[in-house]
Amino acid sequence: MKPFTYTRPDDAGAAVAAVGADPGATFLAGGTNLLDHLKLGVAGPSALVDVARATSTDIVERDDGGLVIGAGALNADVAAHPVVRRDHPVLAQALLDGASGQLRNMATTGGNLLQRTRCAYFADPTTPCTKRDLTQPCSARGGWARYHAILGAGSSTGGASCIATHPSDMAVALVALDATVQVLGPGHEGVGQSTRSVPVAELHRLPGDDPTRDTVLRHGDLITAVELPPSPIARNSAYRKVRDRASYAFALVSVAAALEVRDGVVADVRLALGGVAHKPWRATRAEAALRGAPATDESFRAAARAELVDAEPVETPLGGNAFKLDLVVGAVTDTLRRLGKARPTKETA
Ligand SMILES: Cc1cc2nc3c(=O)[nH]c(=O)nc-3n(C[C@H](O)[C@H](O)[C@H](O)COP(=O)(O)OP(=O)(O)OC[C@H]3O[C@@H](n4cnc5c(N)ncnc54)[C@H](O)[C@@H]3O)c2cc1C
Ligand code: SF4
Repeated sequence: MKPFTYTRPDDAGAAVAAVGADPGATFLAGGTNLLDHLKLGVAGPSALVDVARATSTDIVERDDGGLVIGAGALNADVAAHPVVRRDHPVLAQALLDGASGQLRNMATTGGNLLQRTRCAYFADPTTPCTKRDLTQPCSARGGWARYHAILGAGSSTGGASCIATHPSDMAVALVALDATVQVLGPGHEGVGQSTRSVPVAELHRLPGDDPTRDTVLRHGDLITAVELPPSPIARNSAYRKVRDRASYAFALVSVAAALEVRDGVVADVRLALGGVAHKPWRATRAEAALRGAPATDESFRAAARAELVDAEPVETPLGGNAFKLDLVVGAVTDTLRRLGKARPTKETA
């Protein structure tokens, strides 16, 4: 057991100062991911700085119709909030599709965004893993890669070999909703803390040449809140998660979508994919293909295929993940069809 200190500062500034001053320190929220990593030996911080008192649990509707969710707000409370359910159903559904009731009662908004990959090799320090140690090879590439990336991690990206996916369902919905995170950071050499806004779509990174880094955050940066802009289209939104079990399983593929159809034509659309990349994947190619197109299964399928043009599934002796290509096309088509109330056509989605 590696010894560590534990503190529980009263405000965000003190929490940021405490972590910023110690390169081995880390924030602790609900602990549902971090404590597992402590026990497994994946994480070994010198200090745990509990942010229970330093982050807000409030969920506040702004005058302009936007929503501010405190980083300490529990996943269960966000999912049950009446404004979230009415104005952003994709977010409520994504949260309810994640983990279990008990976990959602502990897990926080900030911690959910920053949970680490569920790649089995990452969680097992007895197996090599580039994400844990850049000098080691990736075990998934020759092993169990069923849950792994098909976009943004292949040889064409020229990076290191990590093909892990980001596991958060909530983050996929937030990317589709154009949400931003508010961050309080330690400032230069710990002097002069500063706040900044980061779009959730730009918070997580592709693995590139440093898969040890999941996000663009710097050491000591504290997520204080998530902001959802006012978005009329979000009222007609949904989350579709395809997984190996009906509950308590991570996404093989997931789809967060919002759709506006006028006179049978796609007037506007938001589309993000989960389970396919090192970050929640905003499907900008598919969105561009859909705007102005007839709201039909053919358009939905064509748009999903356009998004996958650069996909690089892996084949391994234990089974690869090429099946995700059809899964994405089917899940996108089915989700958009339901939102657009378009009639199914003959080809199976
Ligand atoms: C069995 C099981 C099944 C699960 N299934 C799913 C699922 O299907 N879908 C899904 O999305 N998730 C799932 N999860 C993951 C769960 O949602 C996360 O563990 C949880 O959201 C993490 O939140 P937390 O508050 O407990 O974070 P913690 O474990 O406390 O922290 C996680 C990370 O975030 C950092 N952190 C926390 N708060 C902040 C902050 N405000 N600012 C900066 N850094 C911060 C911590 O330093 C740590 O690195 C599952 C977990 C388990 C154990
Ligand atoms: S996919 Fe990434 S996290 Fe998994 S073993 Fe390979 S390097 Fe490690």
